[in-house]
Parts: sequence; structure tokens; C-alpha cells
Amino acid sequence: MGDNTTPSKFGQRLILVKNLKVKSCMTFQKIDGKKIAFELRTSIKEQVDARISSGLPKPGLAVVLVGENPASEVYVRNKCNACEEVGFYSLSKKLSHNTTQAQLLTLINDLNENPAINGILVQLPLPKHIDEEKIIEAIDILKDVDGFHPYNIGRLALRMPVLRSCTPKGIMTLLESTNVALAGKEAVVIGASNIVGRPVSLELLMARCTVTTCHSRTINVEEHVRRADIIIAAVGIPGFVKGDWVKPGAIVIDVGINQLETGKLAGDVDYEAASKNASWITPVPGGVGPMTIASLLENTLQAAQLQDRKHLG
Ligand code: NAD
Repeated sequence: MGDNTTPSKFGQRLILVKNLKVKSCMTFQKIDGKKIAFELRTSIKEQVDARISSGLPKPGLAVVLVGENPASEVYVRNKCNACEEVGFYSLSKKLSHNTTQAQLLTLINDLNENPAINGILVQLPLPKHIDEEKIIEAIDILKDVDGFHPYNIGRLALRMPVLRSCTPKGIMTLLESTNVALAGKEAVVIGASNIVGRPVSLELLMARCTVTTCHSRTINVEEHVRRADIIIAAVGIPGFVKGDWVKPGAIVIDVGINQLETGKLAGDVDYEAASKNASWITPVPGGVGPMTIASLLENTLQAAQLQDRKHLG
């Protein structure tokens, strides 16, 4: 950025000529995931307080971690802290790497039966000797707050979602915050994983976008991205999406969290270059990341409400 350019509050670049603001050459706006997540958590806390005042129990979330993975431990700690902040009951279960699949299934079963627990989250990845699909499928569908159970993914595919996967749900909240009408837009998702790419493609389809899902075998990803009104980058390669791939006015959601050798975090999009063309863009960090935890809290509250209804008949 040269001497005569300065960033404004929302990231607009204003060219200053002879100290006068004469021209807005770029109007991209940062989608502030931190702020939107804070507002969501505040609303959840208010709903929890109202729930407790009416005599209902606190929503409860159990987070299960198997093995010693420093990154997973940080995620679990953050999730438990977020629960406490909004007034949930949280239970953290740390199991050794040697835990067998049968032992983990027994724990899941106990948590399914535990009325103080409304949501169960098993931190992934699990050690190789445990079949992740078996564990996910063992979780009660009304306690599946990660939204990874085939029942919940299937409901989403049929446009009848119940508990929606957290990161994709957070992405949709960020898109809605722009107030841009999504119906009819060309959306290109880069990445087709079960936890991000696929469910977010289903979310966008439900929002009546025309959706293209790119993956490692896609021929010429760039060509797809260039025609997108909405770009969702969930590929796990720093700076994968180049600035000139972004169509003028496109909305860019960067899901990637990549740790660089310097220790800094980087997204899947070249933020500086992409923001020259984008109308809206999420930063990394401070974009999608905070929304994933906020959506988990939202899902846990929703799960508690669903279970209240089930028990009331
Ligand atoms: P993943 O490795 O499971 O999936 C990556 C996807 O990218 C795959 O579908 C693969 O086919 C595709 N891909 C790989 N190389 C490609 C290429 N050259 N061209 C096109 N597609 C290609 O990863 P994931 O779990 O989906 O996560 C993706 C990124 O999002 C990671 O950086 C991860 O850390 C991040 N993430 C962030 C959050 C959050 O809360 N912000 C949540 C989940 C994941």
C-alpha cells in the first residue's frame, strides 16, 4: 500500500490526493466473523438465561478427545470455555490413545443415555485403530451437534435439515450477514470433504445457488473459480486462490487454516490480492473459525430444545 492509500474501517481503500479523500477505488468489505460470532454467543446466552429462569436445565455438551494431539487439545479447551461463557454445562472426556473402539462406543452409549448431556462432540481425527464412521453413527441423532451423522447429512441433502454441520452452518450465517440475495448465484466450493466441502455445497444448493464442487481431481479449478459469484475455499493449501481468479464483486469465504513455517496462520486465499476484486471477504484468522464454535453452541441449544420436545411427547 503506497503513501497515498489508507485503509478505512471496513477495508475500503480510499485514495488520498493532496490530503483530500477524492475517490473510493475499492469497496470490499471484511466479513467480521469475530463480531458476528460474539453477537450469536450473546443471543445464545440470553436464551440460556431465559431457559433456566423458566425451570429448564442448562444445555449440556460433552466433548470427547482420544489421544494426545496438541491442536485437538486446544480446540477442545476452546469449545469447553465457550460453553461456560454462554452458561452451558460442559463435560470434557479425555481418553488415552490406547482406548479401544469398544470402550469408546460404551462411552458414547452412556452419553446418549445421560439426560444432562444434550450434545456429543467427538473430536476428529481419531486414532487409526478406531473407525470414525462407526463412532459418528453411534451418536444419538438428536445429540449429534457436529451434524456429521448420516441422518443429519441426509436430512440436509433432502432440504429438511435438523442439526447442521457447524462450519458450513457458520459459513451460511456469514453469507446471510452480507444481506446479498443468494438465490441464483454461481457458487464454487473448493474442497469436497465430509466436514466442510460437501455439506457446504448442500447448504448452498438449499439456498438455491448453482453449485460447483471442486476437488483434487477437478480439471482447471481456476476456470470454475473465475465465474463464481460466491467462492468457498476449503482446500487446506495456503494462498491457493489467487487474487486474479476472483471475479469483480464476488463474495469470498476462506475456510482454510494453515500454519506457516513462521508460525503465522494463513487462509486458502491470497487475501490482499483477492480483496482488490471481492465485494465481501473473510479474513484468516477472524472469519470462519469463530463461527464454527458459535454454530456448535447454537446446535447444542437446538439439541436441548429438540430433546425437551421429545420428552414432553
Ligand atoms: P480435507 O483435507 O479433508 O479436504 C480438502 C479437500 O480439498 C479435499 O476434498 C480435496 O479433494 C480438495 N483438494 C485438495 N487439493 C486440491 C486441489 N489442488 N484442487 C482442488 N481441490 C483440492 O480438509 P478439510 O477438513 O475439508 O479442511 C479444509 C481446510 O479448512 C483446512 O485448511 C482446514 O484446516 C480448514 N478448516 C477450517 C475450519 C474452521 O473452523 N475455520 C473447520 C474445518 C476445516
